[in-house]
Amino acid sequence: MQPGWWVGRSLLRCHFARLTSSSRVLLLCGRKKALTAVSVTAAQPTRFIRTEFHRRQDNNMSQTRDGWQTIGSYNVYTWSLSGVETCVVVKADDLKLAFDMGYSIPQSITCANVFITHGHLDHIGGVANHASKRGLFSMKKARYYVPPHLVDFLRIVTDASFAMAVTSEALEDANIVPFAVDDTVSLPGNYSMKAFPTVHRVPSQGYILYKSVKKLKAEYVGQPSAAIADLHRNNVDIHDIIKTPEIAYAGDTMIDVFLDPPTPDLLKVKLLITEVTFIDHSDKKDNVQLARDRGHTHLQEINDNAHLFKDVDHILMMHFSTKYSADFIQQHVAANIAPELKDKVLCATVAKERTS
Ligand SMILES: [Zn+2]
Ligand SMILES: [Zn+2]
Repeated sequence: MQPGWWVGRSLLRCHFARLTSSSRVLLLCGRKKALTAVSVTAAQPTRFIRTEFHRRQDNNMSQTRDGWQTIGSYNVYTWSLSGVETCVVVKADDLKLAFDMGYSIPQSITCANVFITHGHLDHIGGVANHASKRGLFSMKKARYYVPPHLVDFLRIVTDASFAMAVTSEALEDANIVPFAVDDTVSLPGNYSMKAFPTVHRVPSQGYILYKSVKKLKAEYVGQPSAAIADLHRNNVDIHDIIKTPEIAYAGDTMIDVFLDPPTPDLLKVKLLITEVTFIDHSDKKDNVQLARDRGHTHLQEINDNAHLFKDVDHILMMHFSTKYSADFIQQHVAANIAPELKDKVLCATVAKERTS
């Protein structure tokens, strides 16, 4: 192919492509108001190109080449394969934590706070490995917040891992913290975490991350700064604390948790991270019922209840069945998501892209 511009009709909504002198293809993708230049090598398959396009549909929520997604003021790395392993890392100013530890992905090693949803191994199986890796890098022990009924079992796992490894002292007396529904813990950066019950085949819980900010009380707004300083010096309480629900992590759950939310905050967060294990239909079986039988959620159920998510800014779907490819997930969800959710839904497929 000679250098030059051509219309990339075979590429989904890709407007132009150009082969540069360095054998890289420049693609101009996206909507008219948000065109994005994407550079890939000529040898990379169309599958990659399509995925790259989908990653960049929205500048504010693009998944970078290293797999991180910027969503609002948060950076999220979602490693999730249904039944295999799930670990989601969230970063913000002064905050870094992980939800679930089915596999101790490299991005999670610096997380000192880990919140586990339930006892299925694709969500808890990597705890001992995570503790061991932190020890290898001389990091202090992480805190593993787990539903109380799992504490003794997980202790057996970490103790047995220590007995086997012998020299991995980080596994000795791992910091496993019982954390029940409605428990709250303060985190760095004026954040706090609260657990809520979810609906799965086994006892499970999700988490809501809150942020607290100080705001001048209404009666002091507009007063001279010297007067405000005087009040502050005299220990007058001049601030209200505004606590906002930022992120909800639902882990494995049926749609029921949203139909009858344990707290209104669940449906008011800026970012909802939840599973949508099944997304397609079949002539041979009812996949919606299959999802329910297995304690999971089907895309159809999200669509049927789209109105529930009107106050959620973004929904990050994860935990897709291993039977779907990354391309299929991105294209099928884009084509079938309810219109009112189209601009707020993202699919986490980085684990599928890197293991297929
Ligand atoms: Zn799972
Ligand atoms: Zn599960």
